Amino acid sequence: MISFYPGPSRVYDEVPKFVKEAHQQGLLGINHRSKAFEEISRKTIQLLKQKLQIPASYTVFFVSSATECWEILAQSLHKNKSFHVYNGAFGERWFEYTHRLKHTAVGFPFEAEQELLAGDYLFSGSSTLICLTQNETSNGTQLSNKFIQQVKKSNPKHLIVIDATSSMAGIKLDFKSADVWFASVQKCFGLPAGMGIMICSKNAIAHATRIAEKNHYNSLTFMINKMKDWQTPYTPNVLSIYLLMRVLETLPGINKIHELTIERYRNWVIFFQKNKKLKLHIKNPKVRSNTVLTIEAPKSVIKKIKFAALKEGLLLGDGYGKLKKSTFRIANFPAIKEKEIRQLQKFLKGYL
Ligand SMILES: *Cc1c(COP(=O)(O)O)cnc(C)c1O
Repeated sequence: MISFYPGPSRVYDEVPKFVKEAHQQGLLGINHRSKAFEEISRKTIQLLKQKLQIPASYTVFFVSSATECWEILAQSLHKNKSFHVYNGAFGERWFEYTHRLKHTAVGFPFEAEQELLAGDYLFSGSSTLICLTQNETSNGTQLSNKFIQQVKKSNPKHLIVIDATSSMAGIKLDFKSADVWFASVQKCFGLPAGMGIMICSKNAIAHATRIAEKNHYNSLTFMINKMKDWQTPYTPNVLSIYLLMRVLETLPGINKIHELTIERYRNWVIFFQKNKKLKLHIKNPKVRSNTVLTIEAPKSVIKKIKFAALKEGLLLGDGYGKLKKSTFRIANFPAIKEKEIRQLQKFLKGYL
């Protein structure tokens, strides 16, 4: 079965080999306060910074999921307010999770086809969290690096916080243009589900230190403290960290991966432009995601095509939320192979 689901998705081919290797090296039962663990953690963070071009001054944390990051941020970085700019189900859910914990969270929904202008997002006051979903996995839209840079520039007293769950490690992100970035590993990282990564600027760390929130097992205060020794407050997913380290070792830098993602994205766009029945759901190329394609067709076609694909060993992603029945999704994640894309294209062409 080849998974084109936009998370959990296809994992890199080497993953089973690395799991075996972890076992052989006696790492599966390793203590998370040991030197051996610290070394794996340190090396993984070093590789993340090197391969993804994350500034050296940023702090990387291992967490359990992107969803956990939503809560950590609400608990430990939310001081006055948070502004949530979203156009789809994940951004909305992030807003709702935050709002349940902090009533001063405010939502700013926008239309999926709308290209945002940074000038429309000038916020007064200070220390607000400006929460953006860089890649909205539910509808297949994205925010550009340029937009994020401009929001940061026009809101220097606030913290820019980015959910990049379905794009980090798939496209090039300008990490210095925001204060917090997070993702989970079952999307563009091509790893089994079970871990998230949170990346914080010096400014974000200083802000968390001032708030000094300590009411939760995953309070950022504790995480910062433990990370001084490359550790985590609670027992982390050591295997996942190890797999991340090994996969990163084999991967090229993000520039190369970005190039590949864009090339494949362009190829998919041409493919669907030629297709009579299946259409790209997002029409505006300026806001269309490079890593998650959302395809629309009549409901009956969607249902049949997913079923027929499955029989061929091709798993398409269901539509998400209110797009569940009218669309399906295709992950354009780097772990997917060229020949698998050809196979899916051949199937889609033959089916229609
Ligand atoms: C998948 C996804 C999440 C949730 O990730 P978990 O690892 O399940 O917590 C959050 N935000 C976006 C944009 C996603 O694509």
